[in-house]
Formats: sequence, C-alpha cells, structure tokens
Amino acid sequence: MSVTVRVPAKVNVQLAVGAARPDGFHDLANVFLAVGLHDEVTATPAPSLRLTCAGPDADQVPLDGTNLAARAALALAERYGVEPAVHLHIAKDIPVAGGMAGGSADAAGALVACDALWGTRAPQEELLALCAELGSDVPFSLVGGAALGTGRGEKLRPLEVGGTFHWVFAVADGGLSTPAVYREFDRLTEGTDVPEPAASEALLSALAKGDATALAATLTNDLQPAALSLRPSLADTLRTGRAAGALAALVSGSGPTTAFLAPDPDTATTVAHALTASGTCRTARTTTAPAPGATVLS
Ligand code: ATP
Repeated sequence: MSVTVRVPAKVNVQLAVGAARPDGFHDLANVFLAVGLHDEVTATPAPSLRLTCAGPDADQVPLDGTNLAARAALALAERYGVEPAVHLHIAKDIPVAGGMAGGSADAAGALVACDALWGTRAPQEELLALCAELGSDVPFSLVGGAALGTGRGEKLRPLEVGGTFHWVFAVADGGLSTPAVYREFDRLTEGTDVPEPAASEALLSALAKGDATALAATLTNDLQPAALSLRPSLADTLRTGRAAGALAALVSGSGPTTAFLAPDPDTATTVAHALTASGTCRTARTTTAPAPGATVLS
C-alpha cells in the first residue's frame, strides 16, 4: 500500500518585506497564490526512512536528513510516537531553489502522505503547527489557494479568488539561495527607512474579483531589487516577457524564477514561446492559478 500526495508551487503576488528584526528574520506581508506546477510525494512502508527523487532537477535535491520531506516525516513520527519506517519518493516538477517553495511543498506533501499511511489522522491545526515548525512557506503549501501570510509569513489568512489567472514561469539556470537574497535586501536597504509591511487592499480586491489587469497593476515583490542585484540577467527575462504581451512581470519570491501574468491562455503560450526562444531562461512553463493545496491522489 502507498499514498501519493500532489502539492502545488506558489508565486508571491505581493511580497512586502520589513526591516531585519533583532533575530534576523523579517516581518512580511506575503500574498501567496498556489499555481498549477506540482511535485508528487509518494509514501510507501519501508524498513526505515528512505528518500528518492526523480525529475529534471533531481540531482540538486539533497537526499539526506536535511531534505524537508524527510524532516516532515520525522516530525510527524515523533509527534505521534510511530516509527518513521517509510520510503518517500518525490516526483519533482517544481524548480529547485527557484523561489517557488518546492522544498516546502514536499514537506507538506510528506506530512499528508505519512499521516494517511500511518493512520495518525492529525487534525488540520496540528498539521499546520507542524508545517510552521518546518518553515515559513510550508503552511501555505498545505492549504493552497490564496492566502495572506504575516509574521514571518507563516500566520495565514485564506483569501478569496474570483477567477482563474493565467501565468507563465521562466525557469532560470541554477538557483538563488533565499538567505543570500535576504542578506542582499538588508545590504540594499541599509540606512533607509523600510516601511512596515502591509497587504495592498487594491491587490486583495483584484484577486477577489479575478481581475487580471487590476492584479497586474498591483503585483509587487520587495525582494526583486535584491534578486536582480545578485542575478542582473533576470532583467532581460522580465523585459522579454513584457514585450511578448505579459500584463506584468516579476521575480517569483526570492527568485530566480520569473513570473508573467497573461490576460488569456493564448497570450500565455505566446509569452512562453518568446521566453524560450530568447535564450534568457532555461525553460518556460504555462499554468493557471489558484491551485488546491496538498491533495491525496491515491
Ligand atoms: P522558497 O521559495 O520557499 O524560498 P525555493 O523554492 O527558493 O524556496 P527550494 O526548492 O525549496 O527553494 O530549495 C531550497 C534549498 O532547500 C535547496 O537548494 C535544497 O538544498 C534544500 N532542500 C531541502 N529539501 C528539499 C526538497 N524537498 N526539494 C528541494 N530542495 C530541498
């Protein structure tokens, strides 16, 4: 018997970042939107915890105890006093270190898969608490849809989405380290007055209405200057997508994946072709949002 769980990637349609706190973390106003790029995590009984991964970026995924899926299985096993005797297989389609919360998705997927396999039947609040311990983006990977994250991003309020949005994601060669991007943010904002992060009412209203043009006008990512500073070539990718008809373009989270909002599926396809042909990215993918959170498939 095995259990397979599908988990979505995310894009931050707003990422407002406050000044570094004394503990080094940043307060955020983080509007997450789950998108239709997925990893699948399969949990199968095994003599002891074992991890495998397949997919185009599989060689960049650590298969030791640092893997977030393994840490999630161990956390659930410890919480319920069961043996973590499980083989976790990750079918990886979310770009690694791409600013799309792939590792967080795998953590949420592993939690849900092990919970079903072991019959631990953890209540949703318990799963969310375990997710928050594993990382600030993990609770959102569990719930999907759209949500406003505050604090370090882990306190979640679900948001209404009134329609389907069409997106293109340009996957860059190589990743960017999220801590390195935050360090660059700190360097670039040193000595400036960084405002308290707050969700944009105009953006929340655009999401609720399903209005792509209004959403395009309100997309913001405070980490974008830092990501562009570390990877200046991303500016060419952003320009290419805009010129091909995207309503708006931005760096996804800490990057280096870039995200393009399209008015309709045909324009999304045109933008994806232009991005691929330009050679400014490794590959471009079209998809829609919102997508559901961690879902048991079998
Ligand atoms: P975020 O958007 O949450 O900042 P990200 O999408 O930029 O994250 P991830 O793909 O989650 O980045 O990976 C970041 C690093 O985490 C990787 O370089 C890898 O070393 C490590 N990692 C741990 N577990 C996983 C996993 N299951 N999948 C991918 N990377 C993992």
